[in-house]
Amino acid sequence: MLGLVQDRPLLISSLIEYAALNHGDVEIVSRSVEGPIHRTNYREVNLRAKKMAQALTKLGVEFGDRIGTLAWNGYRHLEIYFGISAMGSVCHTINPRLFPEQITYIANHAEDKFIFVDLTFVPLLEAVKDHLTGVKGFVIMTDEAHMPETSLDNVYCYETLIEAEDGNYEWPVFDENSASSLCYTSGTTGNPKGVLYSHRSTVLHSFCVCTTDGLGIGNRDSILPVVPMFHANAWGIPYAAAMSGAKMVMPGSQMDGQSIYELMEQEQVTLSAGVPTVWLMLLGYVKENNLRFSSMNRTVIGGSAAPRSMIETFVGEYGVEVCHAWGMTEMSPLGTTGNLLKKHENLSDDEKYAIRQKQGRTVYGVELKIVDDEGAEQPRDGVAFGRLLVRGPWITSGYFKHEGGDVVDADGWFDTGDVATIDPDGYMQITDRSKDVIKSGGEWISSIDVENEAVGCPGIVEAAVIAVPHPKWDERPLVIAVKEKDHPVTKEDLVHHLENSLAKWQLPDDVVFVDELPHTATGKLLKTKLRDEYKDYKLPTA
Ligand code: AMP
Repeated sequence: MLGLVQDRPLLISSLIEYAALNHGDVEIVSRSVEGPIHRTNYREVNLRAKKMAQALTKLGVEFGDRIGTLAWNGYRHLEIYFGISAMGSVCHTINPRLFPEQITYIANHAEDKFIFVDLTFVPLLEAVKDHLTGVKGFVIMTDEAHMPETSLDNVYCYETLIEAEDGNYEWPVFDENSASSLCYTSGTTGNPKGVLYSHRSTVLHSFCVCTTDGLGIGNRDSILPVVPMFHANAWGIPYAAAMSGAKMVMPGSQMDGQSIYELMEQEQVTLSAGVPTVWLMLLGYVKENNLRFSSMNRTVIGGSAAPRSMIETFVGEYGVEVCHAWGMTEMSPLGTTGNLLKKHENLSDDEKYAIRQKQGRTVYGVELKIVDDEGAEQPRDGVAFGRLLVRGPWITSGYFKHEGGDVVDADGWFDTGDVATIDPDGYMQITDRSKDVIKSGGEWISSIDVENEAVGCPGIVEAAVIAVPHPKWDERPLVIAVKEKDHPVTKEDLVHHLENSLAKWQLPDDVVFVDELPHTATGKLLKTKLRDEYKDYKLPTA
């Protein structure tokens, strides 16, 4: 027997409609790319998103079409988020920090029909435009007064497109399992892979983000997501903020400590979210200038492990509660949060910090387990470790166009590539990573890519690239290489060679030459041994 409740589809349009109707005056404040602080609200965002949908329909955009964005966190990006998904197309956020060949690959693989671009990134697109196979036009996210001279073809001005429409438009109703947004991750080996979210997964994830032990978002919050909207949808915050009617404060391109601090104080931010590297810059600025946070009472730290010293500074010195969160693009991204339990109230500060430092407990909706190499589940005793597997209604079932093949097992478990322990209270702690990638300042560097390029350098026979801990960037790449006998190749030669194919921030911080590299029985590089050997290696940049 089925229950007698209405089967209303969970659509992203319902989030912005709700916010416009019930929290219409709540502000969305952005540091605009053109310069000044810009203020709008949910009512306006919904109206302008509808106008954008009307304009895109006239340009021939259809249900399911992918529309790219290359943009900072700002109100126009938010309008695009809602407009594109709510009309039934797919909002494809492109990470502008990737190198040009990757951007081209991603836009072509996604078959983006149009690309929305902030003024900052117009030159980036100009450089690759001849390789973009399916793009019919570019929408520059500014007004007529700021339109740049550009070599791009079929260029539209964002504000002009919007001004031409009346907003008299009803969001269409369709299957909640329809694709809503697409985000490529380089956190795996090989080419970046597309994670394709649905309306249903996004709305369910938003409910979870709003719960007290999710990120605890409510309408009294003023939220500053420093985490970019091109990183797993800014951890789902734009949708959750609309669901709860929270004020949004968007930092645009300026993410230095001073800019973030000033915005936090001006807009009385209560909650912020970002990777440790960003908070390091903020805390440095606050300390140097002897400042305090007058309104911020919570911060979410994720994307990389939050160092204990950072948690202690926020909590102990500034009275800012830290929510250490873990997740991944493939998980929409929220998986665990490190909040304390009622029973921890009377623990010492030291004991509480030790708990906070763990990646945390699963939020409702996500299941976790750790398994050994044979797939046998390991005990939740806080000691046994294993490959961390996840499943749930906002976790990927496979990459876009089936890249990478089947990625969930017969029971629906997805291997995160992280290695972890889970304690009897359910607190998960990442201890290692089985995926061969390096995470620097929240961005991925593929060790395989660097290795492949390194062996192309004259004089290099073999190269292994591993992550080495770094105080600012969390991890940085170290190349360990074997050179041809008596070849004069130097560290500088190798780095110079890598500059041809890698972005500046992906270049190794150091190169070590060795006589030979360790291998597994099947001839693969034995990275675990290298990681162990070099775990205390002092990089010249540290
Ligand atoms: P991304 O898909 O770029 O968000 O990266 C997800 C990966 O980042 C995870 O699989 C982890 O390896 C790492 N990660 C995310 N959050 C944390 C955290 N709190 N602590 C340690 N690693 C993290």
